[in-house]
Amino acid sequence: MLIGAHVDFEDPLAEAAARNADVVQFFLADPQGWKAPEARPDAAVLRDSAVQIFIHAPYVINLASTNNRIRIPSRKLLGQHAAAAATVGASGLIVHGGHVNKGEDVATGIENWRKALQQARDNGGLPVQVLIENTAGGDNACARRFDELARLWDAVGDFGVGFCLDTCHAHAGGEELLDIVDRVKGITGRIDLVHANGSRDGFDSGRDRHDNLTVKNSEPGMIDPELVAAVVRAAGAPAVVETPGGAQGQSADIAYLRAHQ
Ligand SMILES: [Zn+2]
Repeated sequence: MLIGAHVDFEDPLAEAAARNADVVQFFLADPQGWKAPEARPDAAVLRDSAVQIFIHAPYVINLASTNNRIRIPSRKLLGQHAAAAATVGASGLIVHGGHVNKGEDVATGIENWRKALQQARDNGGLPVQVLIENTAGGDNACARRFDELARLWDAVGDFGVGFCLDTCHAHAGGEELLDIVDRVKGITGRIDLVHANGSRDGFDSGRDRHDNLTVKNSEPGMIDPELVAAVVRAAGAPAVVETPGGAQGQSADIAYLRAHQ
């Protein structure tokens, strides 16, 4: 199983080496901003590297939004990041499931997802596969609770999208990790990447604060690390830790997952 980490985008291969990572994920631009990614001088090196690469799209992207001034720029930014992700040979572009606002119908958000992917297809398709990630918070999210995820997948599953399962988001979002891989695959038929994270907050808290698997910053017992390892084993997909502690903390988490394969 390929195991790695989310790392800083300056020199991802050096970060991979520092963690003994088989796979890295990074941003191509400020995750809180709307700026298009800049061309990377190391694109060919990344493309030719034996380290598998995933790109995480900015958090500001919300393809479900009912607000034109968020939804339309989100589609544009998605296209820009997919193009840039292709230049570094990325295996996937991770995009959060998104949400509508309080009082709005999640079905509208799901329809907006479908329209975004239809538009991308009409424009020739995205050069890198989009992996939709489950999220932790909010009552109007498209991919927090799995009943909504099932509705989302009914609408977008035919567009060739993949799925990224985040263990922290599932736990904090109110989905039990025990048997979660079977439940996800029952909906999506696939898991393309695991975000193997601990959580600093309790089950169904709706909070998104990642924790290490091995060194606990949270109260004990938020997520049993063996459960996370079991998810990685059952998923049969690459896994990245998005955990604190820099190279040291992440190396320990990676080593833990490897030891429990
Ligand atoms: Zn994640």
